[in-house]
Amino acid sequence: MQHLDGLRTADLARVRGVLTDIDDTLTTAGRLTPGAYAALDRLLDAGFRVIPITGRPAGWCDHIARMWPVSAVVGENGAFYFHRDAGGALVKRYAFDDVERFENGRRLDAIREAVLAEVPGAGIASDQDYRVADLAIDFCEDVAPLPDADIDRIVSVAESFGATAKVSSIHVNIWFGEFDKLSMTRTLCRELFGESDDDLRQRYVFVGDSPNDEPMFRFFPLGVGVANVRRFADRMQTPPAFVTAGECGAGFEALAEVLVMHGQPEQKR
Ligand SMILES: [Mg+2]
Repeated sequence: MQHLDGLRTADLARVRGVLTDIDDTLTTAGRLTPGAYAALDRLLDAGFRVIPITGRPAGWCDHIARMWPVSAVVGENGAFYFHRDAGGALVKRYAFDDVERFENGRRLDAIREAVLAEVPGAGIASDQDYRVADLAIDFCEDVAPLPDADIDRIVSVAESFGATAKVSSIHVNIWFGEFDKLSMTRTLCRELFGESDDDLRQRYVFVGDSPNDEPMFRFFPLGVGVANVRRFADRMQTPPAFVTAGECGAGFEALAEVLVMHGQPEQKR
């Protein structure tokens, strides 16, 4: 992982948008700081597309798409994207239909029972009520932090049911269905902006911090980790190409400053 100074000016000049994880990338110790929020606004105001790509639930993403300074949001690790249309109305695009949602919900209920029985100390995430597609197991947000072996155990219980399980900095997110952060980001950019995979690779920076961001680090040449990504280095096969000096929101702010200085976004809000 190279320091941000290694970002080439020529590459930065092609950047049109920023894709950002939320927890422990934008947020610091569980809070969205004024500085990180202002950095989002500064990027959007400078003409960049700003798109959070998060494991957080649909209920939160409704709020984020409506009220934050963002262009769109991908939530629940790629289960959907939300954005506001030209008239300001909220548009919701899901990766599954109602029948799949119902059937997958029942299968996730079985996993929920198995995890709680087999991993003492694990909890159901407090934001579970606002989710539409996944089951989020809390291992350190509102429960006492669990050791790595227990996190691995949660993942293996989920996988034994044929589900996908990804570890974020606070939750293990568990779902059925062929989607992840990257697949829904590609769908979003194709549908809203007519962009190809090549366009995506050239025009966007992705910034994140944990193993559920790995498909993005693998895809984006301009993949950036905030400094705390090092905590998960041994859980990741493909670390980001670049890393900030600061952790969490401070790292995001530093990246935003570099982009506003060197990027040449085309669009204006
Ligand atoms: Mg994160």
